[in-house]
Amino acid sequence: PAYFDHNATTPLCPAAREAWLHASDRHWHNASSLYREAGLTSQALEAAREELGDLLGVEPERVVFTSGATESNNALFAGLSKCLAPDAVVAISAIEHPSVREAARAWLGRGRVIEIPVDPQGLVQTGVLHTLVQQYAPALVSVMAANNESGVIQPWQELFKLCQENGVHFHTDAAQWMGKLPAEELGACNYITGSAHKFGGPKGIGFLVLAHAAESFPLLHGGPQEHGHRAGTENYPAIAAMVAALKAANKGLPEIASAQSHHRDAFLTQMKLAFPGLRVISERAPRLWNTALMVMPRHDNLKWLTRLTRRGFAISTGSACSSGKEGSSVVVQALGASWEELKRVVRVSGGWDTTAEAWQDLATAFEEVGTELDAGGRPQDK
Ligand code: PLP
Repeated sequence: PAYFDHNATTPLCPAAREAWLHASDRHWHNASSLYREAGLTSQALEAAREELGDLLGVEPERVVFTSGATESNNALFAGLSKCLAPDAVVAISAIEHPSVREAARAWLGRGRVIEIPVDPQGLVQTGVLHTLVQQYAPALVSVMAANNESGVIQPWQELFKLCQENGVHFHTDAAQWMGKLPAEELGACNYITGSAHKFGGPKGIGFLVLAHAAESFPLLHGGPQEHGHRAGTENYPAIAAMVAALKAANKGLPEIASAQSHHRDAFLTQMKLAFPGLRVISERAPRLWNTALMVMPRHDNLKWLTRLTRRGFAISTGSACSSGKEGSSVVVQALGASWEELKRVVRVSGGWDTTAEAWQDLATAFEEVGTELDAGGRPQDK
């Protein structure tokens, strides 16, 4: 089947699989134990930390391995809840992933989380953030590097600079950026979140980059693993696979980005011709090369999705975490869409090696499904 849901998760890439098997065979010992093999696991683990630090352009001591982006975001706000003054506030963008929005609200309390609105293209404006920083003096600003639903790339470099000038810490959830855009650019941020399964690594492994190695941000209390930042036996095979996946994803990135965005744009052209009235969300904003978020001109998204599934295409309605709930696209909601429009949102997200033909076939399948739905669907669907 043609897989167009890479923003939800990606298949394991060959380099990650190989690294995982090698590490599982050779370095399965507990890195905290005292015999020679355990020491070798510990060394391999620290080498992986250094390699990830190099890829991101940060000191390895600031890298904490976690179970994924959700844990990293929770660890950040849990940590802040302990060290910030009780009346300190944080500012997050209105289109953050639930693991930022809900974690911030849960750990700090709703009243301490300020939302930064986005413009009609889904972008956080530097001027808006500037006003907000002057008005509320937040202790931390959190703006995702790229959005999981629309693929919009935020001007986080500018936002970070503004925060830096005002002595405000900056966090970016880079779960969707990593592996699709150059990782080393992120290194400037104070806090960075990443997750391996979004770039060809295994599920259940990710990282949080801390502002300072000496910070104490434990979400999981217990043993002294991860230099005291996170208790629990380290999942070295998954860590090795994550680093291998990131290196593989970063290879030839500019060429992949230009070829894939070309395929994606050709798909959108075909879609707009076939479906007058189709709206592409954030079409004029810089977007990830693999993502298209659309409001179909008619028929509910679940009808499109079910019929495309039957034809062998995997797509999504907004974000995967909320696709069980009809029309709950956070991004489209933040852009002020009507309930009717929300129910017609579909997202397609290609991969590093998705072919031009696969994109074309997807558009053709949409056209066939459209004809079927306009005719009232097949009898058994009613
Ligand atoms: N943040 C963003 C931007 C995401 O797209 C996702 C993916 O679902 C997450 C966080 C959560 O990632 P994980 O599945 O690793 O917890």
